[in-house]
Amino acid sequence: MTNGPLPVARTVAELRAVVAGWRAAGERVAMIPTMGALHAGHLSLIALGRQKADRTVASIFVNPAQFAPHEDFDAYPRGEAEDAAKLADAGCDLLFAPGAREMYPDGFATTVNVATGVSEPLEGVSRPHFFGGVATVVAKLLIQCGPDVAIFGEKDYQQLLVIRRMARDLDLPVEVVGGPTTREADGLALSSRNAYLTAEERKAATALPAAMRYAVAALRDGGEAADVEGAVRASLIGAGFRQIDYVEIRDGATLARLGPGPVSPGARVFVAAWLGKTRLIDNWAV
Ligand code: AMP
Repeated sequence: MTNGPLPVARTVAELRAVVAGWRAAGERVAMIPTMGALHAGHLSLIALGRQKADRTVASIFVNPAQFAPHEDFDAYPRGEAEDAAKLADAGCDLLFAPGAREMYPDGFATTVNVATGVSEPLEGVSRPHFFGGVATVVAKLLIQCGPDVAIFGEKDYQQLLVIRRMARDLDLPVEVVGGPTTREADGLALSSRNAYLTAEERKAATALPAAMRYAVAALRDGGEAADVEGAVRASLIGAGFRQIDYVEIRDGATLARLGPGPVSPGARVFVAAWLGKTRLIDNWAV
């Protein structure tokens, strides 16, 4: 199915004008923020948005503030025309694709930082700049659009928790909803960064979902978290991963470390590891 061309808003004023028209007609609005290079995982969030609201807005903005200088901001895959066609096919109503000046005008000086709690462990340790950049840009996007519902993937589970905290703390009148992770047939989570993998690395990457499956089964069987974390590390290194940022089993609501003994319900396994130049992250519920 191909729907008509997708309207694109480049400025906050254009975005607000379209959303105001929908609101005047009594329609509910869902927003799905992305950095583009869209795949079936992103499109599943559009589908979820369509279930939860009358209108869906996708944003595409590769946010410089969430990349450290040594990270892949310049190399990050970009292709707006292709993305817009996918969004139109998915039944999205509007693409908000602002330029960097629109988001960060001269003199921009305000940042949003989820200072403690769910932002601290895991990605907060490996990428200390990351959640400040994410919270700032997502706060801006939600204030710019004013959706009833904002949808984020459980693929970036910690990010989802950080955004929920930020929206609650700032009294943003929006429901933050998580969508399930879309995976390849072998279980690898879809990610725009998978495009960086060589054919050989893509084969090796299958070790990540295999290790996650093992971890979940071992924990359900009463395995100790520390033992399971060690086994996951060993299997990833054995499969050719060159560096492991973390393998940690934590509480899925608070991200607190778990005590010894059998893991409690609601635990989650979190992994970030490097295959060549590509950093892969994943998380599975136990
Ligand atoms: P990104 O463009 O990578 O910043 O992702 C935009 C949104 O899509 C975020 O909320 C991600 O968590 C979500 N997302 C990314 N990959 C997937 C996936 N495989 N399944 C579901 N959602 C995803």
